[in-house]
Amino acid sequence: MVKLVVRKSKIASDKTTERRDEFAPEAEIATQDDSICFLCADRIRCHHWRAKAKCTGCQRMYHRSCVAFLPATEDKKHMTMLCPACRFLDCPQPNYRHPTEVLKPVSSFLRDGFYVFPSTVLIPEKLATITSFVTALFEEHWRAFKSQSDVRSMTKGFSNFRRRSPGRYEMVFPWLYEFISRMAVSSERKGGKNKKVKQQCDKVKACPIWMPILQCLLGEKLKLLASGVFLAMPGAKNQPFHTDGPALSAEYNLPCHAINLFIPLVDAGELNGTQIQPGSQYDPNKETIVSIKTAQADRKGGEKYIIPNVAAGGAYIFDYRVRHRGLANLTDVQRPCLYFTFTTDWFADTDNFSMKRYSKELELSPDFQRLQSSYLKACSD
Ligand SMILES: [Zn+2]
Ligand SMILES: [Zn+2]
Repeated sequence: MVKLVVRKSKIASDKTTERRDEFAPEAEIATQDDSICFLCADRIRCHHWRAKAKCTGCQRMYHRSCVAFLPATEDKKHMTMLCPACRFLDCPQPNYRHPTEVLKPVSSFLRDGFYVFPSTVLIPEKLATITSFVTALFEEHWRAFKSQSDVRSMTKGFSNFRRRSPGRYEMVFPWLYEFISRMAVSSERKGGKNKKVKQQCDKVKACPIWMPILQCLLGEKLKLLASGVFLAMPGAKNQPFHTDGPALSAEYNLPCHAINLFIPLVDAGELNGTQIQPGSQYDPNKETIVSIKTAQADRKGGEKYIIPNVAAGGAYIFDYRVRHRGLANLTDVQRPCLYFTFTTDWFADTDNFSMKRYSKELELSPDFQRLQSSYLKACSD
C-alpha cells in the first residue's frame, strides 16, 4: 500500500492544540486511513455519520465541517461528496492557448500566488466618480449605524458592515461589481485577441481586463463570491499575518480555488498597503509560528515578503491561501480598497452563509438606493 507523510500543521489555529503527538511531522499513515481527515490531517474523532464525509472518487475520508463548502448527500454510515482533489482532476486545467497578455500574468500568479497588474485597471477618468461613490457608501453605512434604535456594537458588526480592528472597516456590497466592471479597462482594449475568450466576454456586457486571467485560473464558469470595500483609517495598525482560507488538501498542492482581486482607490504601498509572502500558497503547513513572528518584528521582513506598489485604480490578485496582512496606514488619508472574491464554480462560502443567517443586516435608506441607481446610470452614459 502506498504510504504518505501528512505534515502536522504548524499554523496557529484552534485545532493545533488538539493534535496528539502521534501526528508529529514525520508520522506515516496509510492513504486510506479512515480515521484521518485529508483536508486538515487531524483525526476524525466524532463517529456520528453526519460528522464524516467520504469522497466517492478517491474514497478518502474528511471531516464534514472541513468540506462544508461542498454539496454532500446522506449515506447510512457517513455523508458522501466529491472531494476537492478529485474535482480538480475532473476539471479542465488552465490551457495554454491563451494570448501572452493572459499567460504572463497566469504563470506569474501560479509561481508567486499573486500578480500585480502593470497599469491601472480602472479607467482613469472614472476614478473620481468611484471614489465619490465609495465615500458616500461609507457615510451611509455610518449614518445607518448611528441611527439604529437597538444599538449593536461595531465589533459585533452586521452582515454588511463591521469593524475588523480599530480603524479598519469592511462594507459588504454585492452591487459594487456591476458598477466597477463598467468602469474598468476592458480586456479587448488591451489587445486580447483570443477568439474563445472574446466570445465569452461578448456574452457578459462588460469584460474587465482581469476576467480572462481569472477564467484561465479558476475555469470559465468561475463565480463571484463576495464584493465590498475595506477602509483603513489613518493610524490603523498592522494586521496579523493570515490566509483567507485553508488549503483544501493536507496531501496535495492543489490548484487555486479562490482568488481575491484588490483595487485600492489611493496609491498603496509600504505606508498603507498589503504585505504578501510569495509562494506561500504551496505547502502551507511548512510555515512555522516562529517565522511568522520574525516577519512581524521586521516590517519589511527581508526579501521574503513583498509589498505591491499600486497606483490608485491599479490592482493585484492573490490566491486565497497566500499568507498576507494589511499594513498599518501611516499616511494621513483614508485608504479605501475595493475587493472582489472569485472562486471555482463548486466552491460555496459556508462562513458567509452562516454570517448572513445569524447576523443582522444594517439597512440603508431608500435615498441611498436612489443615489446608487443614479451612479449606475451615469457610468453607462
Ligand atoms: Zn478535517
Ligand atoms: Zn476524492
